[in-house]
Amino acid sequence: MHDYAEEVLALVQAKNPAEPEFHQAVREVVESVERVIERHPEYRAAKILERMVEPERVIIFRVPWVDDQGEIQVNRGFRVQMNSAIGPYKGGLRFHPSVNLGILKFLAFEQVFKNALTTLPLGAGKGGADFDPKGKSEGEVMRFCHSFMSELYRHIGPHTDVPAGDIGVGGREIGFLFGAYKRLRNEFSGVITGKGINWGGSHVRPEATGYGCVYFAAEMLATRSDTLQGKTCLVSGAGNVALHTLEKLIQLGAKPVTCSDSTGFIYDEQGIDAQKLAWLREIKNVRRGRVQEYTERYPQASYTAFVPGASSSPQWDVRAQCAFPCATQNEINEEDARHLLANGVTCVVEGANMPCTSEAVKTFLDAGILFAPGKAANAGGVATSGLEMSQNAMRVCWLPEEVDDRLRTIMRSIHAACMDAAAAYGTPGNYVNGANIAAFIKVADAMLDQGVV
Ligand code: NDP
Repeated sequence: MHDYAEEVLALVQAKNPAEPEFHQAVREVVESVERVIERHPEYRAAKILERMVEPERVIIFRVPWVDDQGEIQVNRGFRVQMNSAIGPYKGGLRFHPSVNLGILKFLAFEQVFKNALTTLPLGAGKGGADFDPKGKSEGEVMRFCHSFMSELYRHIGPHTDVPAGDIGVGGREIGFLFGAYKRLRNEFSGVITGKGINWGGSHVRPEATGYGCVYFAAEMLATRSDTLQGKTCLVSGAGNVALHTLEKLIQLGAKPVTCSDSTGFIYDEQGIDAQKLAWLREIKNVRRGRVQEYTERYPQASYTAFVPGASSSPQWDVRAQCAFPCATQNEINEEDARHLLANGVTCVVEGANMPCTSEAVKTFLDAGILFAPGKAANAGGVATSGLEMSQNAMRVCWLPEEVDDRLRTIMRSIHAACMDAAAAYGTPGNYVNGANIAAFIKVADAMLDQGVV
């Protein structure tokens, strides 16, 4: 069986050269599901894995726009429509200079498994552009989004492909994208999620990824008769996922002490409370500034700038019990993982997509600590997007408590599905295997049912 797994990985590497993040994401899944394929030769016979690693469709397009100086700018737009076996393609759009096809393929591949875990009928896709909204005027961001949608609109639709936000795509960008789609199609439909609450959005969607992560952490701790109450927590990032993770941690009585952006991190030993979080929100969402500005109002906190190319990050070398990496992929390497363990961390929950390198994940699993992969822990965002789609289809708007209740129930089911699948395949407590196996079986069975498509 090991030979078959290596064969699939070799094929992926040969067909997708220079896409290391995609290789990394595929390897992790293949290593988990080889034990399933051993028990179920029908998956191998139907070449399920070979089909899953090949996107159903990839769209690459030019995004020309005019900046405030009247200069023409050209970016590259993408949509990877990865798998529609269990529902319409669903997954976010990322606007960041690092965006390329390999990054989006890794994200789209992860999305297949994440969406299957949500219990909802959601296929998987991911898209974006190598555009950086940071430092751009409102007018520039709007013109870019309108140009981006003037091509994307022909490939998406409420029953085909429903994008949402991701890094660099928040409420503002979703508004501009939706406005352009509506105008081009002359149709008001649930074609994109993360919309404003007054125009088809769902309560709790902005909060859902961060809240979901914390709900997942609470479920994991409960398996060891423990809670988040009083736990010192490290959080990275200061965007959508990080800020709502901080909010829920504070609500549940934990003590978050860090957050970061791409230039550095702040450490507030006394804890980030609700009032300090309000200041962070103002910095990020109103001033569109840097986390360093936190220390202007709270000088007892320290700010440490990151050193480009450093072998480890000082933000993971702080005494704590839990860590929530919520910024970006591969932000925790093996050395960081060892620092976290040495500092007393016994629970790591991935808020971002694949924030831990494969070596870091292995370090955590070998140490026997609680480790939640992003595809399970951060699935609350896409799950609530699924709930937004349901509300749009029914033309209703559920109350915040109702959506939050559903989110909690979904996170509880994901946790249970991971535990059950891990145990059924001989690796109890291994959430990486559990998430990959439970999701793989669901998608693979749907693919078998639908024949060779
Ligand atoms: P945002 O754009 O809102 O925030 C991203 C944050 O991470 C910012 O603080 C940003 O800092 C920081 N960051 C980005 N790149 C880097 C980097 N290379 N090094 C250090 N810090 C970095 O994005 P989200 O919060 O939406 O997304 C964060 C992660 O969560 C991503 O991995 C995303 O794929 C994942 N995710 C998001 C979901 C959602 O619902 N939004 C759902 C599921 C997963 P700076 O401002 O300096 O760039």
